[in-house]
Order: sequence, then C-alpha cells, then structure tokens
Amino acid sequence: MKTHAKVVVIGGGVVGVSTLYHLAKKGWSDVVLIERKELTSGSTWHAAGLLPLFNLSYSVGQLHKYSVGLYKTLEAETGQSVGFKQVSNIRLARTKDRWDEFMYYAGVAQTIGVKVNLLTPEQVKDVWPMAEIDGLIGAIQHPDDGYIQPADLTQALAKGARTRGAEIYRNTVVQGIERTASGEWLVKTDKGDITCEHIVSASGNFARKTGEMLGIDVPVIPVEHQYIVTEPHPAVQERHAKGLPEMGVLREADSSWYLREEAGGFILGPYEKGAPVCYVDGPDKESEYELFQEDLDRLAPHIETAIARVPAFGEVGVKKVYNGAIAYTPDGNPIVGPAWDLPNVWLNEGHSFGVTAAGGAGWQLAEWIVDGEPTVDMMGVDPRRFGPYAGRGYLREKNEEAYANVFTPHYPDEERIATRPLRQTPCYDRMKALGAVFGSVYGWERPNWFAPKGYEVPASELNVDDVLLNENHAPAADDGKIKEKWSFRRSNYFPFVGDEIKNVTHGVGLQDMSAFAKCMISGPGARAWLDSIFANRIPKQRGRIALCHLLTTKGGVRAEFTLYEMAPNSFYLVSAGALERHDHDTLRKLLPKDGSVTMTPITTAYGVLVLAGPKSRDLLQALTDTDLSNAAFPWLTGKRLSVGAVQCEALRVNFIGELGWELHHPIEMQNHLFDLLMKEGAKHNIKPFGIRAMMSMALEKSYRLVGREMSIEYAAFESGLQRFVHPNKGAFLGRDSLVEWQQKGFKNAFVTMELHGIEDVDARGSEPISKDGKVIGRCTSGGFGWRTGKSLALGMVAPEFSAIGTELDVVILGKSFRATVVPESPFDPDNERLRA
Ligand SMILES: Cc1cc2nc3c(=O)[nH]c(=O)nc-3n(C[C@H](O)[C@H](O)[C@H](O)COP(=O)(O)OP(=O)(O)OC[C@H]3O[C@@H](n4cnc5c(N)ncnc54)[C@H](O)[C@@H]3O)c2cc1C
Repeated sequence: MKTHAKVVVIGGGVVGVSTLYHLAKKGWSDVVLIERKELTSGSTWHAAGLLPLFNLSYSVGQLHKYSVGLYKTLEAETGQSVGFKQVSNIRLARTKDRWDEFMYYAGVAQTIGVKVNLLTPEQVKDVWPMAEIDGLIGAIQHPDDGYIQPADLTQALAKGARTRGAEIYRNTVVQGIERTASGEWLVKTDKGDITCEHIVSASGNFARKTGEMLGIDVPVIPVEHQYIVTEPHPAVQERHAKGLPEMGVLREADSSWYLREEAGGFILGPYEKGAPVCYVDGPDKESEYELFQEDLDRLAPHIETAIARVPAFGEVGVKKVYNGAIAYTPDGNPIVGPAWDLPNVWLNEGHSFGVTAAGGAGWQLAEWIVDGEPTVDMMGVDPRRFGPYAGRGYLREKNEEAYANVFTPHYPDEERIATRPLRQTPCYDRMKALGAVFGSVYGWERPNWFAPKGYEVPASELNVDDVLLNENHAPAADDGKIKEKWSFRRSNYFPFVGDEIKNVTHGVGLQDMSAFAKCMISGPGARAWLDSIFANRIPKQRGRIALCHLLTTKGGVRAEFTLYEMAPNSFYLVSAGALERHDHDTLRKLLPKDGSVTMTPITTAYGVLVLAGPKSRDLLQALTDTDLSNAAFPWLTGKRLSVGAVQCEALRVNFIGELGWELHHPIEMQNHLFDLLMKEGAKHNIKPFGIRAMMSMALEKSYRLVGREMSIEYAAFESGLQRFVHPNKGAFLGRDSLVEWQQKGFKNAFVTMELHGIEDVDARGSEPISKDGKVIGRCTSGGFGWRTGKSLALGMVAPEFSAIGTELDVVILGKSFRATVVPESPFDPDNERLRA
C-alpha cells in the first residue's frame, strides 16, 4: 500500500469508484481508493439499477444525463460489460397536477437536451400491452433511459481507473483521519497510514461515521427501501420467445411505484410512507451485503395499485424481497462538493439514486478537485446547503419525509412539514397572529404570505383524486382551516399577495428578513482583503453600502453580499439566508493566513425587519431622532440609529424597489421594535408582507439571484452585472478569467421579458426560450408583477437574441407564449422610488 497519494477516496461503491475513475481520467493518476470490504458490498450491489433521467433540477438533470451517456460507452472503453438495457422509461399521469409536473419537467429536459416523448394512454398500451390504461391522462417517455447492472458498472469504472494508474485497496478500513502539521491529511487504516492532499468521502451508509472522524455532522441518514422480485410470468416469457422488446420501466408516480421486467418476471419498487430511517449510528463494523427483514404490510397498498395497473403482476409468486438501506438527505438530493470548515475534504454522499448519479457526480467532483471549479452549477447538491441545525434528530424526521415524497408531485410552492416550526424568529407568533402562512428556508420560518382572518381554501379545490400519498395543500392551520393550495399554476394565495404589494406600493409594509446570513469582517487587513476578493469597489466613505460579488476563479458568480462598513475596519456582510454555510465557508477559506482579518458569524444575533413603501419615512421618523430626509440619509447608505429604545443599524436598501429601510437590530429586542413599528404604523395602515410579494416586486426590478440569474455557469457580465463588477479597479478574484472570457466572447446574455397571453400560469424558471422553434435560452425566474400588471420572466439567452424588442417564445407547462425582451427593471427603471 502506498504511504502518500494526491487523493484518497473512502468507499468502494459506485459513487466512490466513479470519483476515482474521473480523477484518473483528468490525469491525476496518483489517486487511491480504500474499501473496507469488497467493492459494491454497501448499497450498490442490491440496487435495482434503474437510471431515471427525470429530475426537476437543472443541475441534477445534467448529472444524470452525463451518467447515462457515459455508461453507454464504458463497455467499449474497458471491455467490461455493464449490462445496460436501454428499454425506455414511461411515467404515467393520473391527475392534472401530475401532468403539469411532467410538462414542467419536459421544459427542463429541453433546456438540458434530454429527449422526452409525450404518450397518449393508447400509446402506453402499445409499449406496455400488459398494462391497463384506465384513468390515465397520458405519460412521458424517456427513450434513452433504462437500467444497468450496478456491480458490473462499478467494476468497469474500477477497471477504467486502474488502467489510468489509480489503485484500489480492498478489505482495508479507514479508522481515523488527522490533519498533519504541514496541512496534509493522514488517513489511518488497519493496513497502514496514507498521507494525502485531498480526501473524498464516498462512504454511503457510513457517511456520518466518516464525518465523525473528520469532526463534521454529515447530513445523511439512510432509510429502508424495498423492492420485490417475482417469479417469471408466462406472458412475459412468451413475449421473449417471440423476440418482442422489453416493455420498459413503468412508473406510476401517483401510486408511488416503479415496475419493470426482470428475468421473465417483474420487479416492483414502491416508495412508501412510513419507511423508517436505519443505521442511525452507522452500520455494524462487520456489515457487508446486508439486507433487512422485509415489511410486506408497508408495501400492500402499492402492490394493490400495481396489480390494478398490471394484473399479470398479481398472477406470479414473490421470489425475493430486497429491503436495503438507501442513503438520504433532508431534501432527497445528494451532497456533492466541498465539506465546510475543512480544506481539501470533499463529500460525495447521500445518494438515493446513486447508480444514476454516480457518473455525473464523479465527473463534476473531479473537475472541482483538479480544476478548482466544477462546470455545472452544483448549488442544488452543494453539501453546504444544510446548516448546523441539520443534526441527527432533524435528519431522522426529514429524511423519512424526503423518502415518502419521492413520487409526490414536486409543486414549486410546496412547503414540507417535518420538524417545523424549527427556527423561529422572536416575532414568529406576532406574524402568525397577523395571518402569516409560513415557508421554511435553512430551517427558518419565514412568512410567505398573509391570509385574511378565517380564510380557508374551498374544499372543492383540494385533492380528492384517488391517488396514494399525494397532497396538494399545506396542513390545516391552528384554526383548523387549510390556507394554502400548492400548484404549478397561480394558486389561491395569488390575489392576497397582490393585496400585500398594493399596500407596500401605496402605503407601508413590514417584512421579517431575520433569516439573512450575516457576518462581521474586521481587522487591520479587512478592507484590503475584501477589495482583493470582491469584484465591486469597497466604498471609501463609511456608511456607504455596496452590492459585492464574489466571483469564481473562472469569472462566474459564486456569491453576493451587501457590504456596509459599520465601524472603522469592521464590515457587515449580509447574504441570502439559505446560503449561510455556503457563503461563510467560502469566505472563511479565503481569509488571509496572517491573522490580519477576522470573521465573526452573527446571523442569529441580529434580526432584520424591513420597512418599505412611500410612507415608511414618515412612520420611522416619528420613532427616531435621526434625520431621515433624503439629504441626510440617502439611498444606499446606512446609519446606526435608535428606534424608540432599540439600537438599529438602518440600511437604506431593499429587494423590492421601494423607499425603505432594513432595520438590523439585536434579536432579543425584536418584539419591542416590532410593536413600536406596528403601533406607529397603524396611523399609516401598515400591513405585513411576505416572501412571495417580495419575489414579485424583485422580478419587476430585474433583481438577480444566486443560483438563478447568477451562477458559476455564467460569466458575471453575462448576468448583466456591469454596474457591480469593475475589472479596471485592480486585481480581484476571478478578474483575469472574466476578462479572458469576455475576449473569447459570451454565449449568454441576461434578459427581462414580458410574456403575452398569460392566463393562469406564469413562468417560474427553467422554461425553455425559443426563436423560430429552436431553443436559444432558458428562463431563470418568472411570475406576475402586480405593480406593472404584467407577467414577467428573467432569463439567459444567446446574445444575438437579447436586444430590446426581440420577440421570443416561452413554453410554460407545454403551451407556447409570445415573449418580448423589455428594458431592465420594468417598474421604476430610474429608481425614483428608491431614491425618493
Ligand atoms: C433496494 C434498493 C434499490 C435501489 N435501486 C436503485 C436504482 O434502481 N437506481 C439507483 O440509481 N439507485 C438505486 N438505489 C440506491 C443506490 O443503491 C445507492 O444510491 C448507491 O449504491 C450508493 O452508492 P455509494 O457508492 O454512495 O454507497 P455504497 O455502495 O454503500 O458504498 C459505500 C462504500 O463505502 C465503504 N466504506 C464506508 N466506510 C468505510 C471506511 N471507513 N473505510 C473503508 N470503506 C468504507 C462501504 O463498505 C461501502 O462499500 C437503491 C437502493 C436500495 C437500497
């Protein structure tokens, strides 16, 4: 065994071996993999081998697409068969909402180049003659989809890695991990120690155990997952004898199962409610090729619906039930990327569709490690999307919930309920009393919108379809009434959000944005360091506020911060609440080593109440002796002031484009401040507003968001950040690459579009944008702008289609709408209201 390697990969399942393969393929041959037993002896050996391309996420979709493409070539490359059967994959829709979901997905698929066919029930019958088609609206089919032999796939990847110089040590257990004095990692095994530069944790069900060795709480706990293999059925065998093709993988999402042929019989795999987490303390030391006792009762409702759909399934005996551990995270997506706090530690864990994702995840992680950046925006799978709140108890509840929801419709406005309300700001109860309907981000409760007292969704609107598991609404509120219906279209809360916006536009509104991520950057070197990492100029004058972007080394956008010098050499940075761990970890890893700059996270020390609207000045002025006139307190400045007795840092900025102040205050004084504002505000008919109102107003201002209009995939200038990115200010992170990118020419341009002929559905992001029938871009955000009275969308298109007035087409849920490129900020383009 080697004593030194560039990378040590821990775990010889399909995910670890794929990572090793891709590292070697990128030219790093000094890489090793350590597996405690045999390759695939964790979860990989018993996987059903399905390769579902279906995924609503733009990033995960790209990973899956890459995997399927790679797997098709592996046999030719390595000589090792992987048993790939391209039998296609058919997803059945029984409800209108499901069909909407499929149509939304078909749009995502088009933007990433995945082929999808739409089938009528009769066409389903043609492909799957043994299926009944009663009650079906239709289906989507992935012709390139199919299944593979997971163990053979892993062996092929291992062979490909070894051929390129990588080494694999089987029956070797990683027992401890230490940091060396020189900053390398010492991986201690029962067969000796290896010093390395990078560690990749791909340890499947052992993820938390590996995390313990590293001192981090990895947000992965597996859930039990079962599938049934039947005896052969004569009708299936007869089809084979006649040389007829395999019938493909059949998925009835509304009954939460998949079914496919297997050796003349069937495999049925349900995703049930009530499947328990397992291996909470990690598998046993000796665990290998392990299965659990089956639980047929849990499967019964799914078996019944499967028999109704494919009666032949009920005519054969059960050969074997596999009940194995499947790794889960709270949102069901894997965690692929850097570990927080630790340098050169990478996680490729939490894979519930690991056979499908392994190729793409290994590919992108290898790019990240070798080149310093991936090429696909990995925000949706970044390990830092969960925070320290995601401990054991949280994972138990959330991961079971994620498993039970694999096949429920993924409504864009769905808010899952497990563990809530977990992180409450002090004014939570006050907002609730005002009718707040909450959403959850990064564990925080945030009002999404406000329902009138006693309001309830009419029962006729709620899901009465005869389907398993699906729910199209939030649980009942404290008054026993259901307030929110989820939909791919404009939903019941639409007019109420409009009322909130009208109130902000003509009067004054109050919003709780305490979930913002916040930190202080201080010390003698603070200004120079910030100047060296941010693309914007750091304001020289204290009190000025700047919007600062942190670019990737390639010139894309990694993060965005509002910066404000609170005290000399002490800068307050605010960024999106959901990105706290991501943003803070990124900053921390860039800190100078000489101690001249310190970073102090203060998210939970400060609350933020946003006061906005034309009457906000009159209201606030009555509560403070600080002069709030435009001359004394202009837009984009901040000041420390007292509101009554509450000391606030008041920042004259907001995300909605109205006159207003963000009041950053000691969190323990929040309710005192809240009551003062509401009492004084009563004179101005103050009303609260929520995230959905904010998003609608932000859209009308063409404000960009990280992970949507700004991402590592787009150069900062493609995202239209010319006002904030200054290559001529001197050196900063990503500057040279951005200039180089610009010289080579951009492939994308940011646009704001007005959509025409919209009735009950707006764009949301990920819809394809086309010109003369050819896809030339994708929407990144969308919605209805109440102040402009227009359905709007933001998007990225090929630059030649970005001129104002260009006519384009946007397909929303399968229907094409005319779109016109309009100037940025359709509402108040000169920012007169912000400057008022
Ligand atoms: C019943 C069932 C059916 C499934 N069907 C599908 C499917 O159809 N399609 C699909 O895409 N996915 C499917 N999955 C999921 C799939 O099996 C997993 O996502 C995938 O196998 C995960 O691979 P992995 O490499 O992350 O983990 P594993 O295969 O579990 O590999 C992790 C490895 O790390 C090793 N290890 C851990 N700790 C150490 C240590 N300290 N030292 C050395 N080695 C260590 C373990 O021994 C193990 O071999 C299914 C899962 C189940 C349970």
